[in-house]
Amino acid sequence: MRCTLCPRQCGHRSGVCGETDELRLAVASIHFGEEPPLVGKGGSGTIFVSGCNLGCIFCQNSQISHYGLGRTVNSVTFARICLMLEEYGAENLNIVTGSHALPALVEGICTAKAMGCSLPIFWNSSGYETVEAVEFLAPFIDGFMPDLKTLDSPVAAALFHAPDYPSVAQQALLAMVRHSKIHYRGSILRSGVIVRHLVVPGFLDSTYRVIKWFAEHLRYKALFSLMTQYVPVHAGPQRQINEQEYKQVLRWLQECAIEGGFFQELVTDTAWLPDFNQANPFSSALSTPLWHWREGFLSY
Ligand code: SF4
Repeated sequence: MRCTLCPRQCGHRSGVCGETDELRLAVASIHFGEEPPLVGKGGSGTIFVSGCNLGCIFCQNSQISHYGLGRTVNSVTFARICLMLEEYGAENLNIVTGSHALPALVEGICTAKAMGCSLPIFWNSSGYETVEAVEFLAPFIDGFMPDLKTLDSPVAAALFHAPDYPSVAQQALLAMVRHSKIHYRGSILRSGVIVRHLVVPGFLDSTYRVIKWFAEHLRYKALFSLMTQYVPVHAGPQRQINEQEYKQVLRWLQECAIEGGFFQELVTDTAWLPDFNQANPFSSALSTPLWHWREGFLSY
């Protein structure tokens, strides 16, 4: 069957992403490491999807994005996972890297809603998705959390073999803000777009262009989130960002008057690195797992 789900346009299923029509998940957990209005008191209900259509060479989740850890679930099991996250107090559902599994996820979301799930749903993605995919998805979810990794085609080619990433992601993000407006209930974000940018060491010019583009096109329409947790895992720059680079980026955010968003403190350790072979891939301070690809449902 011809697959045109994402901009890779492989022409056949199980192409660049390596996935089929089945939905495979790695872990579902209550996560406290996301932006504050997503975390609130109850934490964000993260659902990590196995596989990825982008495949960054520096991916921190490579066990599930590149190397296939995960288990197939049907829509009813997906819905039960959503309901369990709600029961344990999650403020939202946060579906991580599901662009290559869009139809199965929409079926799962519809099943979860039919079974009583009432949480707002955020789509947490690389930004490498077509406008058609964003528009297909929009009626079923509440908000988007796309990355904007770079606007430099040679950088995109070098880091994730997608020279078209800049133009594709720009169009996808503009479509997302057309479909989802920033709305808070109290201190909790109920809808809207958070654009995330991970600073890659040695690619600061690229970060500057992302900040400038955001300021010109998305200021007041979306929130900006600066991430500093780059850790060398496989390929890519073999160091973390330093204090000088961090301060420079913060100055650019100020110069471009990007306010109301979020920035991570400078990360200098590897505490963020997950291990998806563990029932809790993150530290216990960051996350409480409720379902794991090997263990299934975890009870407390
Ligand atoms: S979803 Fe996977 S198979 Fe389909 S076009 Fe994208 S990378 Fe290729």
